[in-house]
Amino acid sequence: MSSVAYSETSLDLQPLPQPDREFYYSRVKTREAVLKSVRKLNYDTLEIVVKCRDDGSPPICGQAGQYATLRTPEITTPRSFSFARAPEFENPNEHTFLVRLVHGGRFSGWLFEQDRTGSPMTITGPLGSFTLDSSNKPMLCVAGGSGISVIRALLEHAANEKVARDCLFLYGGRQQRDLYYDEEFKAIKAAWNPNHRFEFVQVLSEDEGTSNWAHRGLVTDYLKKAYIDTGRIDVRKMKAYLCGPPPMVNAAVTMLEKAGTSGGDIKFDKFEDSTSPAPVIDNTKCVLCDECLYVKPVDKCIVDVASLRSATPNTTPSYTQIQPGQTPGLYYSSLYIDAKECIRCFSCVEACPVGAISVGYDRNVQSIRQSVG
Ligand SMILES: Cc1cc2nc3c(=O)[nH]c(=O)nc-3n(C[C@H](O)[C@H](O)[C@H](O)COP(=O)(O)OP(=O)(O)OC[C@H]3O[C@@H](n4cnc5c(N)ncnc54)[C@H](O)[C@@H]3O)c2cc1C
Ligand code: SF4
Ligand code: SF4
Repeated sequence: MSSVAYSETSLDLQPLPQPDREFYYSRVKTREAVLKSVRKLNYDTLEIVVKCRDDGSPPICGQAGQYATLRTPEITTPRSFSFARAPEFENPNEHTFLVRLVHGGRFSGWLFEQDRTGSPMTITGPLGSFTLDSSNKPMLCVAGGSGISVIRALLEHAANEKVARDCLFLYGGRQQRDLYYDEEFKAIKAAWNPNHRFEFVQVLSEDEGTSNWAHRGLVTDYLKKAYIDTGRIDVRKMKAYLCGPPPMVNAAVTMLEKAGTSGGDIKFDKFEDSTSPAPVIDNTKCVLCDECLYVKPVDKCIVDVASLRSATPNTTPSYTQIQPGQTPGLYYSSLYIDAKECIRCFSCVEACPVGAISVGYDRNVQSIRQSVG
C-alpha cells in the first residue's frame, strides 16, 4: 500500500491579523448627548461638559488635542470645539469643552443667553490630528483665547505619560480678567516628569499700566523678546504647538520659522469660524479614496457632482449632485466643497492623503477636472 504524503497542518495557535484597535475606535462617530454642566470661567468663556446618552452605541474615543463638532436642535449647523481634557481624565462618555463668546455668534450666543444645562446636543468626533508627537524634543506651547483648552488636554496627557521633555507654555490674554485655569496648570506642573522643567507664563497685551504684571505684550512678541532673543530657549531644537485665533497662530508660525524652527516641528490648530475661507478640492489631484467623505461632519459640505456651473468666475457655482443609479448622462464624478455648507473644520484637509484639499487652491470652477458644464 502506497502512503500518501499529506502536508502537515500546523496546530500552533497563531492569532489572525486584527484591525488596529486605536484606528478603528478613532473613527468619527455621531452620538446623541445632553449638556450635563456649564461652568463660567470668566466673563466670556464657559466650560461645558457634554454627556453622550447611554444607548449602547460605541463611545467617541478621541485623543488629547483632537476636537468634535456640536449641534443642537436650535443650531443645526455644527460648530467645532476642542476637547479640553485628556480622555483619561474624563468620566466615561463625557467630553469637556471651552466655549468663548463670539460677537454675533449663534452657537456661543445661544450658550451664553441662559443656562442651557440639560439641553439635547449631537456630538460628532473625534476629528483632527493635533496630537502629542512621540519625539523627545522640548515642547513650546503658545495659545490665545479658548485655544488654552487644547493645550490643557495635551499637557494633561503629557504629564500623565511622564514624557521626558521640558515644556514652556505661553498663554496670551488681554487683561487679568481674561485669565483662568491657574489651578489646572498648577496640577499639571505638579504631575510633570520631575526630571524635566515645566513653565507656564501668562502674557497680557492690554493690562493697565498701573498693575505690576510681569509679562506684557503680544504673546508672540514676548516669546521672541524674553525667550528667543535672550537665548533662554533654542526654538530650532523644539517642537511647537500653537493654538487659538488664526491671527495669533499665523504670527507665531512666521516668527518661529524666521527664528529657525523647521516647518515639520510646528503643529497648529486654528480656531477658524464661518468668516474664514473654505477649502477647495483640486480634482486633478484627487484619487477618489473617500477619506474626506468619512470625516466630514456636515452632510452636504463635500458633494459628488456631475456638473458644476458658474455664470462668471469667482461666483458661487451651482451643481448637480450625483444620485447613484439616478443621475442620467455621462459624467466624471468630481468632489466639490460647498462653501455655504462648510463649517471650516478642516477635517477634510487633514484627512486627504494626497494634499488635494487646501484653502490655497484656485476657486475658479475651471480648475475642477472635466466638470465645467
Ligand atoms: C478645529 C477647531 C476647533 C475649535 N475649537 C474651539 C474651542 O475649543 N472653543 C471655542 O470657543 N471655539 C472653538 N472653535 C471655533 C468654533 O468652532 C466657532 O467657530 C465659534 O465658537 C463661533 O461659533 P458661533 O456659532 O458662536 O459663531 P458663528 O455664528 O459661526 O459666527 C462666527 C462669526 O462670523 C460672523 N458671521 C456669521 N455669519 C456671518 C455672515 N453671514 N456674514 C458675515 N459674518 C458672519 C459672526 O458675527 C461671528 O463673528 C474651533 C474652531 C475650529 C475650526
Ligand atoms: S468641507 Fe471640509 S472643512 Fe468644510 S465642513 Fe466639510 S470637512 Fe470640514
Ligand atoms: S481625501 Fe483627497 S483624494 Fe481622497 S477623495 Fe477626498 S479629495 Fe480625493
